[in-house]
Amino acid sequence: MEKVLNYIGGELVPPRSQVWFDKADPATGAPSAQVPDSDEADVQRAVEAAARAFPAWAATPADERSRMMRRVAEGIRAKLELFARAESVDTGKPLGVASTVDIPRSILNFEFFADAVTQFSSEAHLTDNVALNYTQRSPLGVVGCISPWNLPLYLFTWKVAPALAIGNCVVAKPSEVTPVTAYLLAQVCREVGLPPGVLNIVHGYGAKVGAAMSVHPEIKAISFTGSTRTGAEIARTAAPLFKKLSLEMGGKNPNVIFADCDFDEAVATTVRSSFNNQGQICLCGSRIFVQAPLYERFKEALVERVRTLKVGDPLEAATQQGALVSREHFEKVMGYIELARQEGGRILTGGRRAEVTGRCRDGWFVEPTLIEGLGPGCRTNQEEIFGPVATLTPFETEEEVLEWANSTRYGLAASVWTRDLQRAHRFAARLHSGIVWVNCWMLRDLRTPFGGVKDSGVGREGGQEALRFFTEPKNVCVKL
Ligand code: NAD
Repeated sequence: MEKVLNYIGGELVPPRSQVWFDKADPATGAPSAQVPDSDEADVQRAVEAAARAFPAWAATPADERSRMMRRVAEGIRAKLELFARAESVDTGKPLGVASTVDIPRSILNFEFFADAVTQFSSEAHLTDNVALNYTQRSPLGVVGCISPWNLPLYLFTWKVAPALAIGNCVVAKPSEVTPVTAYLLAQVCREVGLPPGVLNIVHGYGAKVGAAMSVHPEIKAISFTGSTRTGAEIARTAAPLFKKLSLEMGGKNPNVIFADCDFDEAVATTVRSSFNNQGQICLCGSRIFVQAPLYERFKEALVERVRTLKVGDPLEAATQQGALVSREHFEKVMGYIELARQEGGRILTGGRRAEVTGRCRDGWFVEPTLIEGLGPGCRTNQEEIFGPVATLTPFETEEEVLEWANSTRYGLAASVWTRDLQRAHRFAARLHSGIVWVNCWMLRDLRTPFGGVKDSGVGREGGQEALRFFTEPKNVCVKL
């Protein structure tokens, strides 16, 4: 069993408490790693280490920082199989997903920001030939990154890489549910010679480690991805301290399928967009609205495809659906399926614990589930379930489905399927959503602004937005 250590000041160290807690492999239910139960003393050490490292790292030329980011990327690539297996065991996701999506994207995050920082520029304004205003953008100092369990290394590096590239030193906290790949990353950072204290990783519970980061006066910004409830808690504590905040939170995304869509592509992509990673992606579409003339045909085709998704041992190559991340999450998702039944939903496929035999017989598997017969306002259609559960609802008009799509407290992502270009633009403009995919899903360009509106988020990640977030702009006005 892996005994995870914190990474502070360039060293792999135990928590000050000398206490660890067990985390389980979701596919078997058996303990798979021991996680440091760190507290504010560990956060304090990490902040001190980061503050010591900051002057030299900030003064390091951008191209040297960029080369260091690339060395980290190479270090992960050299151990891709090790990382992918660890991610699969930690999360329950199929090994194929970890090795083709999670870990390659984590590598890309470092490579992308290694490039981006060499292209970063700030603005200058010539003011009526009387003055030259220019904007100095300096790194903030010590910044905090807090990430969730669904795409552990992928989302951890999505924050850490831009923060480091632009010259900050980081105190980062991965999810206590999925700590192992962040621990492997710490080992890579040591191997490739990242200067001590530039990145510090403190493991443990959110209520201890995350909360200590939110209130720490030396941490100038928090970049957070996770639930809306935790985001609100961080905002409550960090805002009065005037920290910069970037909050990427929950979603309840609509898939809107118009009758004139490319049928085969819409069906195939909807299977992916609702059930990839067992539906545990903030961008997954969990409310599928289908225009009435197409409804029965679409439903039949979708149910057929979803029914044949292979749920099984995440380490087997044929598996398409792995386990849910934890017992608590499994129980939450099963509770929502029960709620859907009580609200009058008809289960079209799935709806039960998935039986997986052999070593995974005690794992937390849920059958991919489609439900119809629920109104857009019920709890099943309003609250984030974050599992392999989606509802199907027929609609008549564009106006009607727009109102339903916009009816939740969330506004992260949407996907819209139509061959009518005018409608696509019109509809995209009226959706309350940070991201709209037209005739596609998860087609990512890392330069684009990434984030949500309403209770899904504040601020944007991605490309220059992320680099700018991690800097303080200063206007310098020179009279000519
Ligand atoms: P979570 O909010 O429970 O935890 C996220 C992180 O916050 C963890 O590291 C956790 O330890 C920490 N944390 C918990 N309490 C804290 C506190 N009081 N102070 C500071 N930190 C604290 O979320 P989760 O269950 O790990 O992840 C699932 C959620 O994340 C879903 O709601 C999903 O939609 C969301 N998510 C959003 C995005 C996005 O980009 N918008 C991406 C992925 C996941």
